[in-house]
Amino acid sequence: MRLVIAVILTVFSLFGYVTAQTAQKSAKVFVLCYHTFHNEKKSQYNFTPDEFKQHIESIKALGYHFISMDDFLAGKFDYPLNVMITIDDGNATIKNIYNSVLKKNGIMPVFFIYPNIIGKKDYALKFDELVWFKNDGVSFGAHGYFHEYVNQKLYDLSVQRFKDEIYKAKDVLEQKLSIPIKVYAYPFGLYSPITIQHMIIAGYKYAFTINWGYVQTPIDQTKKYEIPRYLVETSSWKSIYETLKKHAVPKNK
Ligand SMILES: [Zn+2]
Repeated sequence: MRLVIAVILTVFSLFGYVTAQTAQKSAKVFVLCYHTFHNEKKSQYNFTPDEFKQHIESIKALGYHFISMDDFLAGKFDYPLNVMITIDDGNATIKNIYNSVLKKNGIMPVFFIYPNIIGKKDYALKFDELVWFKNDGVSFGAHGYFHEYVNQKLYDLSVQRFKDEIYKAKDVLEQKLSIPIKVYAYPFGLYSPITIQHMIIAGYKYAFTINWGYVQTPIDQTKKYEIPRYLVETSSWKSIYETLKKHAVPKNK
């Protein structure tokens, strides 16, 4: 009799496990967009290493899992609540938080780079540093070549300049890093229908905006060139945190 009960209990718990796995199929991904990590306040896009550490710790405390761009591209969403950290522009102050905050918490970020400043400006990373980060597991995406407004206005002004922002950015990064560049982040978050057409022709799999919102999986394939991101600024962090908190609260409790 005891054996029968044990078998029944096992079957039920297995059923429960399978159901839980199925229920987790739909996940949420909150993509955060950071810029610089100077030790002093430089702009509304800057967070000191301590402030950034607090962001990561408070996101973790809400029960979020950090995913990489590889997970995103593979559709590997094992948990219902996810955050992906993206850092735009390739600022050298990334080095202030890479080991101490990101690596320490097992987080692999995505760097969206516009090649024109790399190795040219004091404040930017160099190509050999980008290669080092790549070898350490960081993902890369393009972010224009000159960081122009990649929209209809630029296309009308100069088709060549428009194309450089999309194709040259990809070519240069692929050549320098020896990896395929599959994702793009629109500089200033600006794009037009013509931009999306060229994203497709260039072979990008996804393009990221700074439209407020999160990604619900499975990802709507008609919206893959308009992936929302939360632009983290001094003034927006509180609302972003409140949004994350709201979604972290279990329903029916
Ligand atoms: Zn940018």
